[in-house]
Amino acid sequence: MIVPAAELDADEVQTIAVLPGDGIGIEVMDAALVVLRQLQHRIPRLQIHLRHCAAGASEYQRSGTALPDETLQICRDADAVLLGAMGLPHVRQPDGREVTPQIDLREHFQLYQGIRPAYLYHEMDTPLRSVQAGRIDLIVVRESTEGLFHSRGQQIAPDAETVDDLLRVTRTGSQRLFHAAFQLARKRRRKLTLVDKANVLPSMVLFRRYFDEIAEQYPDVQTERMYVDAAALHMVRRPHAFDVIVTENMFGDILSDLAAALIGGMGMAPSADIGEDVAVFQPCHGTAPDIAGQGIANPMAMILSLEMMLEWLGTETTRSAAALLRTAVVTALRDPAVRTPDLGGNCTTDQMTEAVLACLRTG
Ligand code: ATP
Repeated sequence: MIVPAAELDADEVQTIAVLPGDGIGIEVMDAALVVLRQLQHRIPRLQIHLRHCAAGASEYQRSGTALPDETLQICRDADAVLLGAMGLPHVRQPDGREVTPQIDLREHFQLYQGIRPAYLYHEMDTPLRSVQAGRIDLIVVRESTEGLFHSRGQQIAPDAETVDDLLRVTRTGSQRLFHAAFQLARKRRRKLTLVDKANVLPSMVLFRRYFDEIAEQYPDVQTERMYVDAAALHMVRRPHAFDVIVTENMFGDILSDLAAALIGGMGMAPSADIGEDVAVFQPCHGTAPDIAGQGIANPMAMILSLEMMLEWLGTETTRSAAALLRTAVVTALRDPAVRTPDLGGNCTTDQMTEAVLACLRTG
């Protein structure tokens, strides 16, 4: 059982399970750990014990299991989990589906809150016209244990001509999600948008009903309800109007990628998957096999996931470290030359990381 982070003594050692995974997951994790070491150098009271764990598609190839029991136990015992990225297109289960330990982890530990912030650090990184830095500042809270992903485990008969996928909405799953989203909105600009498809799908009618019930307990938070198609349109046309968005698993999967596109792409999008007992921090992106091994992956999403983790750990020391790191990222990205190819620049992963380290040294 995880100790509520805020109750830990500020100088107590925090144990972090480190799961680099596959592809660029390993490269961006290296970057984040160098940054963590620099933070510890700046703040000696920041005591972190790292436990490196085997997990991912390559582990599946090696041992036949993508998430060994030992790794699951270390994750369970740790104060938080830092994950790179997992899965490789050519590593598949006997039925042809990809090995997806990152999704298995969410279900195994019931990490029901998928927190996906999108913040625009520099106007040059958005494909939108005339949007200033900071004007996109929203968070998608994605339900991550049920919804349309509920069907992902079903087997398809070889001769199947019709397949039905089930979108599951439960009272427990919805209520815990909405409480978390309202509490998050309270820490921000106090606006929460429910995204659903309640005009068509009965499951979404129920989802909205649960939302409306929980909303009564948070009269200080302004709410709005939006169909998913309209939400996609509005996120592009007026992203500044959103604060926290809460939605179903599949809708959240899609809209959080859209949100990432607004701020520079997957390389800029961190995330947290939070449950009652375990919290996993990882970039929104996958293993990017197309660029793996070239040393050009953007490490920012991973570094920002580290920042989210330090903030979430919640002690005075970890929160100071998070603030220091955030300032370093903001400062580093002010220089238009600090950009990997996904952002239109020609920095390597190491150069981008070094820019953050330089700001940490002087900041
Ligand atoms: P998954 O389904 O596991 O989320 P995916 O197949 O949707 O993964 P990604 O692996 O996230 O996709 O990659 C999508 C595209 O974004 C690829 O072209 C990839 O090179 C690029 N990309 C993803 N992450 C990064 C990054 N950190 N730096 C640079 N490019 C990235």
